[in-house]
Amino acid sequence: MIDIEKQIRTNIKNMKPYSSARKEFIGNNGVFLDANENPFGENNRYPDPYQNKLKQAILKLKKVAVENLFLGNGSDEAIDLVFRIFCEPKQHKALQFNPTYGMYEVLAAINDIELVSLDLIDDFQIDIEKVKPFLKEKNVKLIFICTPNNPTGNTIFKKDIEFILQNFNGIVIIDEAYIDFSTSKSFIEDLESYNNLIVLQTFSKAWGMASARVGMAFSNASIINYFNKVKSPYNISKFNQEAVLDKLKDYQLFQKEKNEIIEERKKMAMDLLPISFVKKVYPSDANFLLVEVIDANKIYQQLVAAKVIVRNRTSVVKNCIRITIGTKKENQQLLIALKTISND
Ligand code: PMP
Repeated sequence: MIDIEKQIRTNIKNMKPYSSARKEFIGNNGVFLDANENPFGENNRYPDPYQNKLKQAILKLKKVAVENLFLGNGSDEAIDLVFRIFCEPKQHKALQFNPTYGMYEVLAAINDIELVSLDLIDDFQIDIEKVKPFLKEKNVKLIFICTPNNPTGNTIFKKDIEFILQNFNGIVIIDEAYIDFSTSKSFIEDLESYNNLIVLQTFSKAWGMASARVGMAFSNASIINYFNKVKSPYNISKFNQEAVLDKLKDYQLFQKEKNEIIEERKKMAMDLLPISFVKKVYPSDANFLLVEVIDANKIYQQLVAAKVIVRNRTSVVKNCIRITIGTKKENQQLLIALKTISND
């Protein structure tokens, strides 16, 4: 167990948070003349700053208590807040494993935090020997682990993550944006064992709600309190809260769509392999496939010309494209385009 209070930036610990009108008075009955809102119209009121109705629905699903959940304007907001809560600009460092999700680097740069990148090795797993010296370095405050990892699609070995959680005197952020597409258990179940753990999930992927921008951070009550202390007062709009709440009502539809994507992922992995310029299809526990081709830049451009847009990832994994799994029809369109290119 680590001392959380010692991990918090001094200015964040000492500051007084903004106290919004909707925080100072909670209730629905009365004449509301407290928030400088316009009395006319249907969308004139500020939304619930702590999204309690939406949180109640999420808690049932994730089986955690309300004090363990923070909702952000996408999980990107939670990543930004982690830097702001724990890292002193120009002084502290964070660690990530390359190749991975690009926003850790962008948000580290915005917050003026040095980001150390260690390469993933052998099937994109963590080289734990390389990590060891950083676990004891005082200035390293955060370690980001994305599992299943974007853009490689693989799940990081649990034993390596556990080793890091057990031996790091700092905060470990496990980004589970794609967990619903995998068969692995979430680290949410380990929150009671590790007080230096933050688990991130999102409604943008398996839930199909990317336009609503709602992300989740799960952690112990002290860390969640700091998220709430530094977030902007009304960080999730009423429309977005309601949209996700509505989506959560149909769990069967969520399962059906998610399973269809998983089935299509398996099918696509097999259908892509015989194509002449496809060298490797990496195994994936996410809703995308990382595919090595002979010339990624060329294939990417040829696909664009055929009006099929994939992600060219050659800058991070040489000659790889990342293909998001679409509907059956969309996936067929991609396969037809690739076969046409291969026959040219
Ligand atoms: N984490 C990972 C690994 C992602 O790939 C993404 C989005 N591509 C995010 C977080 C951001 O998700 P959100 O839409 O919740 O901000």
